[in-house]
This record gives sequence, structure tokens and C-alpha cells, in this order.
Amino acid sequence: MNEASSYQRLREHLTYLKLDTAAENLSPELDRATKEKLSATQVLERLLELEVEATQARRQRGRLRWARYPVHKTLADFDFDFQPNLDRKVVAELSTLRFVEDHRNVILLGPPGVGKTHLAIALGVAATEAGYRTYFTSASDLAQTLQAAHLEGLAQLKLRTYTQPSLLVIDELGYLPLDQASANWIFQVVSRRYDRGSVILTSNRGFSDWGQVFADQVVAGAIVDRLLHDATVLNIRGHSYRMRAHQEPTTRKGGPAVIR
Ligand code: ADP
Ligand code: MG
Repeated sequence: MNEASSYQRLREHLTYLKLDTAAENLSPELDRATKEKLSATQVLERLLELEVEATQARRQRGRLRWARYPVHKTLADFDFDFQPNLDRKVVAELSTLRFVEDHRNVILLGPPGVGKTHLAIALGVAATEAGYRTYFTSASDLAQTLQAAHLEGLAQLKLRTYTQPSLLVIDELGYLPLDQASANWIFQVVSRRYDRGSVILTSNRGFSDWGQVFADQVVAGAIVDRLLHDATVLNIRGHSYRMRAHQEPTTRKGGPAVIR
């Protein structure tokens, strides 16, 4: 077989095997190999490396889409100077994602606008980019979705959405009061994840208010108990970032932000 038909067959093989990036780069990489006198091993290695990189990027995009973050946030665009009481060392520790590896939880507490959701998404996105499966939901969406699935006899199936990811972000606990069924679904998810997978939870209510949030002191206690086991709690007692234009820098204040 001559060189031209070998090349043609090779391209077809790559396309048949869905190694599209390698197929697209075949011609330029072979030209480069001739110019730079590369060995067959080097050409193959380079071509497959391009394919691997493309596959990794595609999977990462797939995981991010699946995780359903409402917006994209990163730790790099979080202004720590605006929240002087937030211990950036603790956040830096969390950004190593060891808490995901160790199945530990992160609880972000504080009034509206202090960046709880921002930090939760940023950590979640970082974990997703590092290869972990993650999922974002609000507390009320989680409860409503599971209750709806339950009425169709599909609760066990739907629970997997919340139990299988390595990291589950539960946002906005406490903004809306939860009924008993909702409280039960949150308990189901939290207790099934206990010691098996991480939860990042954000709430504008302190633990002492959770009895009211869940309309049930006992369930609230059981949820707090499981969540707090080996958790990092960041209590952000600063000002709302949304309102920053309306405030004098000198009036910014707040208490200590970290309990570990
Ligand atoms: P919370 O969840 O605590 O109510 P958010 O995380 O939704 O607050 O923050 C409100 C808005 O302000 C978001 O757009 C967020 O990205 C931004 N924001 C909050 N804190 C900071 C900060 N320290 N640096 C940069 N952006 C911030
Ligand atoms: Mg929020």
C-alpha cells in the first residue's frame, strides 16, 4: 500500500474509533514529525495526548452541565478584603478539596449577600474541574423534587441524584420554611450521604433557628447532628456585597468568622 492510501486508511480508522481530535491533527502532526524528525513513538504519543486532552475537556464540560450551577463563580473572583472576618486560610484549605476526598462537610452561615452561594459554587466548580461529580440544588428544590418523585413512586430513583455525587451543594436552607415532608427529604439525603460524600450547605439562619426552619425540633437536631460531624463551619458576619455601594468603608465591621 502506498503512503497516500495508508494515510487515508489511518484517518478513517481514527474517525471510525471517534478519535476526532487525533484525526483532525493527523496531517499537521505528520508534517511536524517530518520537519522535526520525530520518531513514530513521538508522533503517536503527541496525537493521543491531543485526544486525551480533548476528552478530558469534554467530560469536564459534561460534569459542569450535569451539576447545574446557576452561575459560574470562582475563588479567584471572591474579594476577601471585603469580608475581613472570613479566614482566607480556611477557604484556601477547602480549595485543596481534601474535604471532598475525606467526605467532610462545609457549612456556610450568614446574612444575605455575604457570599455564601458564591463560595459554595466556587468550591463546587473547583471540585467538578478536578474530576469529581457534583450537584447543585436549593434546599427547597431538593425537597420539592423528591416529594414529586415520591408521588410518582420514583423517590428511590430520584434520591440517587442527591446521593451519588461526591459533592452535593444545598443552597439557601432557611429562606423558605419547610413542611414535615420536606424536612424528611432533607434528612434522607443528609443521612444517606453521612460519611460517604460531602455536603456544602448554605443558610441565612443559625443552627439554633433550624428547629423553626424544619418545623420540627427532632428532625432539625438529627440533621444538624449528621451535618456537623467533621464539618467546617464558616460563619460570615460581614456586610452584603450587593449593598457595598451604599456603605462607607469605615463602617464595615463584624465578629470572628470561623469555627472549626
Ligand atoms: P449569599 O449567598 O450569601 O446571599 P451571594 O454569594 O449570592 O450571597 O453574593 C451576592 C452577590 O455578590 C453574588 O453575585 C456574589 O458573586 C457577589 N459577592 C458576594 N461576596 C463577594 C465577595 N466577597 N467578592 C466578590 N463578589 C462577591
Ligand atoms: Mg445565597
